[in-house]
Amino acid sequence: DAPAAGKVSTRYDLEKETELRFEVESGVSAEQVQMEVLTGMAEIFGSELNRNKKYTFGPGSKIAVFTWQGCSVNLYGKPEVAYVSKDTPMLLYLNTHCALEQMRKQAEEDNERGPRVMVVGPTDVGKSTVCRLLLSYAVRVGRRPTLVELDVGQSGVSVPGTVSALCIERPADVEEGFSVQAPLVYHFGSTSPGTNIKLYNKLTSCLADVFSQRCEVNRKASVGGCIINTCGWVKGSGYQALVHCASAFEVDVVLVLDHERLYNELKRDLPHFVKVVLLPKSGGVVERSKECRREARDEKIREYFYGFRGVSFFPFSFEVRFSEVRIYKIGAPSIPDSCLPLGMSQDDTQLKLVPVTPGRDLTYHMLSVSNADEGDNIVESPVCGFIVVTNVDTQTQVLKVLSPAPRPLPKHTLLIMDIRFMDMK
Ligand code: ATP
Repeated sequence: DAPAAGKVSTRYDLEKETELRFEVESGVSAEQVQMEVLTGMAEIFGSELNRNKKYTFGPGSKIAVFTWQGCSVNLYGKPEVAYVSKDTPMLLYLNTHCALEQMRKQAEEDNERGPRVMVVGPTDVGKSTVCRLLLSYAVRVGRRPTLVELDVGQSGVSVPGTVSALCIERPADVEEGFSVQAPLVYHFGSTSPGTNIKLYNKLTSCLADVFSQRCEVNRKASVGGCIINTCGWVKGSGYQALVHCASAFEVDVVLVLDHERLYNELKRDLPHFVKVVLLPKSGGVVERSKECRREARDEKIREYFYGFRGVSFFPFSFEVRFSEVRIYKIGAPSIPDSCLPLGMSQDDTQLKLVPVTPGRDLTYHMLSVSNADEGDNIVESPVCGFIVVTNVDTQTQVLKVLSPAPRPLPKHTLLIMDIRFMDMK
């Protein structure tokens, strides 16, 4: 426990089925807020809290301490806002979990597969939070569900610009979220699916294939099913990507958060056996500005290289000769149909690997290190890590990179992201 000495403390007595919501100021100089359960029982986004333990929340945190039975808690420090709400959709979310658990029990009895659930809705409706809640509840009753993260803007699993899957084996840590060990990660390269929708759909299919293969050999994973977190882009190609995802994963349940039109469209367009359910969003979900999202993305990358809270990583900086690596960008710029070579469609260009000769403009770009071996399909191969280009010397033909592991790079195929990271350390 970090000491709470000298901080203002405020006590809140919560009745059953209410929650204390608080936000910690953002910005590097903002003060952390600590929280402690004094009596009774409470949880944060599905993870149970220990009594008399001080949990620490850093700048920008937006938290809800919910209690089913009633409790009293102390806050130490000065949150930007703190209030108690009686109006929460938690009972509906719990009912949803119970219905999913029923499906898992049925799957166990019938030797079938458990529920595959897609969570959809516009931005800032609490999709990630609902996923976290349902996964933590499932794992608390002994299941082993899989989180599929398709939100390339705000990934809960890896750095931005990726899609991924993670087997959940324990509830999310109250302060740090799910423990990320051995996730399966694919390179997308930008923070919006719209930059290359064909690639986005392709990667969704890759994840679905790998997940299905795992379900065939792992009964617990099959019964546990999956919870798929999606992007907040629900119109046009974004909507089509949701329909594609539902079919690739053969989802059984779609949870639509706070968007009646989307609910009706999906009911109309998905096969009748898919259960489409409309759920309200929580009044506690806080809208995040563009700036706030950008900061969260930067923070995620910084954590990748430098660690998080108690765990510090020490990244390496070293030189890589141009000749040691092959650098590609996925997707050739679109050209008018009339200019395409005979027999080639625009779709083919979106999945094309374009070799890149490093130039100054590569500085600060993130690169994915592809796991592909000679002869593998690079676009459809997972990645084994990320590096950032910190300098390009075209004269000596050398790149300087920031890497989580020491020289040499484990693999030599690198994929360029649109995402840049300026190392301020
Ligand atoms: P995005 O569109 O970026 O994917 P989202 O729909 O997934 O967003 P979340 O990330 O789940 O939304 O929630 C947005 C923020 O609101 C998070 O910081 C989360 O911690 C906070 N939040 C969610 N539920 C509550 C609640 N009941 N009370 C207070 N804060 C909450």
